[in-house]
Parts: sequence; C-alpha cells; structure tokens
Amino acid sequence: MTLIRATCPDCSDVQLTTEEVQLRVCTDTSDRRYVYECPNCFTPRSAAIDAAGAELLVQAGVELIWWKLPDELGETKAGPALNHDDLLAFHDFLDDDESISAALDTIR
Ligand SMILES: [Zn+2]
Repeated sequence: MTLIRATCPDCSDVQLTTEEVQLRVCTDTSDRRYVYECPNCFTPRSAAIDAAGAELLVQAGVELIWWKLPDELGETKAGPALNHDDLLAFHDFLDDDESISAALDTIR
C-alpha cells in the first residue's frame, strides 16, 4: 500500500493512503492541487503540486479529477459593479425575514 505524506498546517506531517487523496486539475488554468481531509483534525486541506508530483500521485493510484472554471466567468457583465453600499444593503436585506419572504413571493 502506497502512503502519501502531507503537511497539515495545524497538525504537521500526516500520512494518507491513496484512497484518502484526490488530485484535482483545472482544464482551463492547469492548476493542480491535491486535496485530503486531515486524519488528525478532520479539516479539508489542499495544496498546489507541480506536474511531476501530480504524475507521481496518479501513478500511485490517486483519483484524478478534471474540472473547469465556471462558464459564468466568461459572461459579459451588465450594469454597474457592486460597491460597499450594495453589500451593506444586501446584508440588511438578508437580516429582514419579511423582505426575504416578500422577495420569494415574487418568484413563486
Ligand atoms: Zn490537521
């Protein structure tokens, strides 16, 4: 059984099996990251890895997951950009149950 050594920022070095690690590669940016849940603190972790390291993980049997950036990133945006006042207004809106209920009624 192949063991993979990783470094959790909180727990230091940990050992993982190939089943406990995934390799995620973005098809748009070629960003490569290995992801795992720390066996000590149970926190999801990820770290960048170079092409050679990624190849070693794949050869060891780590699951490879390809992903792409959301299509929304390529959409043309219309209207003014959000500003700080917009965020504060949205925060107030989310804090008002009646406003949320009224807004939901308009889309039902
Ligand atoms: Zn940890």
